[in-house]
Amino acid sequence: MPEWLALYYREPLELTHGEGRYVWDAEGRRYLDFFGGILTTMTAHALPEVTKAVAEQAGRILHTSTLYLDRHMVELAERIAALSGIPDARVFFTTSGTEANDAALLLATTFRRSNQVLAMRNSYHGRSFSAVGITGNSSWSPTSLSPLQTLYVHGGVRTRGPYAQLSDAEFTAACVADLEDMLGQVHGTVAALIAEPVQGVGGFTAPPDGLYAAFRDVLQQHGILWITDEVQTGWGRTGDHFWGWQAHAASGPPDLLTFAKGIGNGMSVGGVVARAEVMNCLDANSISTFGGSPVTMAAGLANLTYLLEHDLQGNARRVGGLLAERLRAATAGLAVVREIRGRGLMIGVELTEPDGTPSPRAASLALEHAREAGLLIGKGGREGHTLRIAPPLTLTVAEAEQGAEILGGVLRRVQDTIGTIGGKERP
Ligand code: PMP
Repeated sequence: MPEWLALYYREPLELTHGEGRYVWDAEGRRYLDFFGGILTTMTAHALPEVTKAVAEQAGRILHTSTLYLDRHMVELAERIAALSGIPDARVFFTTSGTEANDAALLLATTFRRSNQVLAMRNSYHGRSFSAVGITGNSSWSPTSLSPLQTLYVHGGVRTRGPYAQLSDAEFTAACVADLEDMLGQVHGTVAALIAEPVQGVGGFTAPPDGLYAAFRDVLQQHGILWITDEVQTGWGRTGDHFWGWQAHAASGPPDLLTFAKGIGNGMSVGGVVARAEVMNCLDANSISTFGGSPVTMAAGLANLTYLLEHDLQGNARRVGGLLAERLRAATAGLAVVREIRGRGLMIGVELTEPDGTPSPRAASLALEHAREAGLLIGKGGREGHTLRIAPPLTLTVAEAEQGAEILGGVLRRVQDTIGTIGGKERP
């Protein structure tokens, strides 16, 4: 395996099975899963409804090729089109978020006949050649070569830099002015703006509600398309909304929407939704051999049905709100915690050095200590200094309370270490 394949923990963790919000390692230790396999386990581990759908379909026919019709794919496409909020929507299935964004970029650049795109600073959109070319976080973007001409826009992160002290309204106005200024300098056509409503890998940071609606007004004056990357924010995870873009809905829906990760509850389902006019702009045939395969589509349908019938968006709002509150209480007074921010079950805990700079070593320590205490969490942010908490959406109140208590203890331990060892080198 390549050296650049990221693995968590000093001693890599081997997971063998899971149930609900818990997973077990090869030595039989149980962990409360606050990272949901980075949001792939959207509802629950081994959710019986999904397991049954997968097993039944696998017993019938595993795969046929998307050259033949499969009713699961048609039904899932219809349901996602209706849920997307995009009028006259069409859905194309892929196997990953990277491939979904790649497809969205192909559509937008072809539709607009331009390879110039706008992306957000600190963003993450995947690992393909085009996706790294719109990823504004250099830790995840290994090349400056790109098939796209990308211009990076302010607005994704506001915890640091010249905009950090601004109010929501001032921040929005400053970002819009910056966008207008940039567009005034650009030669030729710009195809699209792609943005995560809440930056995932970037450390669960969100702009003020309405920022993308304000951007949208400017973009529309230039005919520039809006692509919303909902790979982390879709399906109700942010609590108040089913899609992240709905916190920015004042100027209407986006033109394209990409999704992946959670909808298959572990099966590889991704895709792009677009207005028919945009989706149908390609002049050549296209296909994805595994995108939309019967087993993954059956999983997606069962998972989506469960999610809607059990109001998991409401659960994300209620239990996510409680979890953020409990985490704030459990870490009150700890200098190592700079900020706890959250939208539903997408909670970021930003960690800081005593001198106020980002603390990747505190985040690494927190991951190790949490593992020892039986809790899985993630990390992100430009410096890897923010803990990411994104449990399966069925998280219960008792589990939220238990996890908050464990994490409080973990961060107290981290605080003690950071306070005494000095220096800034990574542990
Ligand atoms: N977009 C976002 C917002 C993501 O978080 C990710 C994955 N972390 C991707 C795209 C890429 O998805 P995948 O890993 O399935 O290719």
